[in-house]
Amino acid sequence: MTRPGRTSAVRVRAAGESDRRAFRRRLLAWYARSGRKLPWRRTRDPYRVLVSEVMLQQTQVSRVVPKYREWLRRYPSLEALAASSTAEVRETWYPLGYNIRPLRLRAIARTVVRRHGGRLPETREGLLALKGIGAYTAGAVLSFAFGRDAAILDTNVRRVLRRVWIGEQSRVRDRALWELAAQLLPRGRAYDFNQALMDLGATTCTARSPRCGSCPLSGVCVSYPL
Ligand code: SF4
Repeated sequence: MTRPGRTSAVRVRAAGESDRRAFRRRLLAWYARSGRKLPWRRTRDPYRVLVSEVMLQQTQVSRVVPKYREWLRRYPSLEALAASSTAEVRETWYPLGYNIRPLRLRAIARTVVRRHGGRLPETREGLLALKGIGAYTAGAVLSFAFGRDAAILDTNVRRVLRRVWIGEQSRVRDRALWELAAQLLPRGRAYDFNQALMDLGATTCTARSPRCGSCPLSGVCVSYPL
């Protein structure tokens, strides 16, 4: 692999197919052994995937799990959510915080019911046209619910990709990381690959205390050991 010291743009371009293959193989094998068992990983229902992704924004998994279950008991469908009142969704959301999120979620539900017959769009453009859905959430819904080869880039994924391919101290634009995430994506395995990247960032390649000694990517990571 190319070693650190080169500029980030060169580093990203220099990643060859054999490097990418090694990265995918190690990451997917680790995920098969160590991936977290989370309730939203038992469904491909687009609405449920969307709810989990909106709840997980800036919020720890342990706080999201019980609220995800409660929310779905109360609003089992986009139609049920679309028909809810503001006071009700706020109350159900409490105490997750960032309280604009349940209202955005309901606004999406209302638009989808009104304009799309209650079905979330299956294209990136269609999803991005819904207020409150950005590039990350669109990629998550496409890969987790619709099985599309769509990349994602959130805080955890950004950190893992930067450390492995570019170097902890190097600066890199999000655009380059999106391109890298798309290049790395194994065709037909986007679900596992994206979940694995998020899990590795959440449990091993953490912001403050990365566990490089037990990391499956240590052999291909330009930041190792951190
Ligand atoms: S070796 Fe360390 S820095 Fe590199 S991906 Fe693993 S935990 Fe992160």
